[in-house]
Amino acid sequence: VSDSPPDIDAPSLLDPQDWLAFREEAHRALDKALDFVQQRPEQAVWQQLPEHIKAVDAPLPTAAQPLAAVVDSFSERVLPYSLGNTHPRFWGWVHGSGTASALVSQMMMAALNANMGGRDHAPMYIERQLIEWMRQLFSFPTQASGLIVSGTSSATLLGLAVARHHKTGGVSREQGNEGRALVAYTSCESHVSVSKALELMGLGSGSLRSVPAGDDHAMDCLALKEMITGDLERGLVPFAVVSTVGTVNTGAIDDLPTINALCAEYALWHHVDGAFGALLALSENLKPRLQGIEQADSLAFDFHKWMHVGYSVGCLLVRNGELHRQTFSANPDYLQTEEAGIAGGAPWPTDYGVELSRGFMALAVWFQLQEMGTQKLGRAIERNCQQASWLAGQVELNPALELVTPVQLNIVCFRFIDATRDAVALDALNKRIVVELHCRGIAAPSTTVLDGLCVIRVCITNHRTRQRDLQALLVAVLDIGQQLLA
Ligand SMILES: *Cc1c(COP(=O)(O)O)cnc(C)c1O
Repeated sequence: VSDSPPDIDAPSLLDPQDWLAFREEAHRALDKALDFVQQRPEQAVWQQLPEHIKAVDAPLPTAAQPLAAVVDSFSERVLPYSLGNTHPRFWGWVHGSGTASALVSQMMMAALNANMGGRDHAPMYIERQLIEWMRQLFSFPTQASGLIVSGTSSATLLGLAVARHHKTGGVSREQGNEGRALVAYTSCESHVSVSKALELMGLGSGSLRSVPAGDDHAMDCLALKEMITGDLERGLVPFAVVSTVGTVNTGAIDDLPTINALCAEYALWHHVDGAFGALLALSENLKPRLQGIEQADSLAFDFHKWMHVGYSVGCLLVRNGELHRQTFSANPDYLQTEEAGIAGGAPWPTDYGVELSRGFMALAVWFQLQEMGTQKLGRAIERNCQQASWLAGQVELNPALELVTPVQLNIVCFRFIDATRDAVALDALNKRIVVELHCRGIAAPSTTVLDGLCVIRVCITNHRTRQRDLQALLVAVLDIGQQLLA
């Protein structure tokens, strides 16, 4: 313990002391990152994590160590055991595959360390430009608003909060759901984030009606209408329909024009979950499949899936921007805006959502859109759909495989079959095949249950996938299937 006063005029404790050495180290780290992105496709799609990698018993670091040591530790512990979604044979769940350029945009983002809650600085206008581009892409009116969020789950929660605000004439901000039996509708194929949104809003998942789907796995709109009228007769208060453009299981697209008409008839909010499917808007050929999306009251979608921007970034668009602002705006003393100076630039993003401090992920999207252009991004999406069709055709040609449902978009659901096994045994077998594909590092599809059957699900939101990768998958599925039967 020293008697002298702390040196309160010393240089920052946390900035580099030797910038030249730091630069060298940072360049070395950049090279490691570039190597990873470039070489990842040549490695196994995934590898089993050794126990020491999973151990979380390291002591809290108290003393400083050189950045180089931390980078080395990262290279050893993390890089070899990544998820694999940047690999050409990753088709599990719905993942984006990223781009090499993210290394540049996310580095710039880190340099700025912008706080995007509000205030007047250039990054705010980048986010506004991005929202304006999205407004145009989806033909929303000029008075529409938007917010960049961490993903579709958040965007859906916010969109449904605006819907409630609308239905309750704004009193829900003070009174909550008191005395109102609000109910919403979504298809049985919709994403679990819709249900979670209603749970968080205090309405409970029981207030979400699960509308049956037809053979095409899209919402049965006749059933929807019956459920709405039934609920009205019982004195409940329907307030929103959540449609899906591109369901997780099969890529089904709900009938947006019919849902728009029903929402108009019963004064309901139409929120569209377009997590990955809304990105069809980037392709002139596929965009017609989104017909009706421009009439939605709110739209949620992701940039980190089919647009391959680094995780995590999505978007909410709201047709009535003023309503959106009214749902979330607040003016505490410490957040007053001004005509001039740093506190200018109103309205601020914080008035359109729940976060105050926010990162600048809009920059990564802004980089991506400019560097790639919508045409190339759209072509990558078209190619994925063509690859799904091709894969489905190959499945149909093979007697040991069964296509479980026609391909609508970019998702292929199929089964390995064998006449000597019953349906239950085949369920277990197909699950096992997928686990083996992962554990052997060959490919990464996932599984789901369709019409009661466990299926191998290949969701191609991957710009690195080539036909040869899908071919390798088929060979491996047949091999492993035979091995497991034997
Ligand atoms: C991925 C997905 C979501 C959730 O989006 P996040 O960005 O992961 O929060 C919602 N709906 C659908 C259809 C999805 O594919």
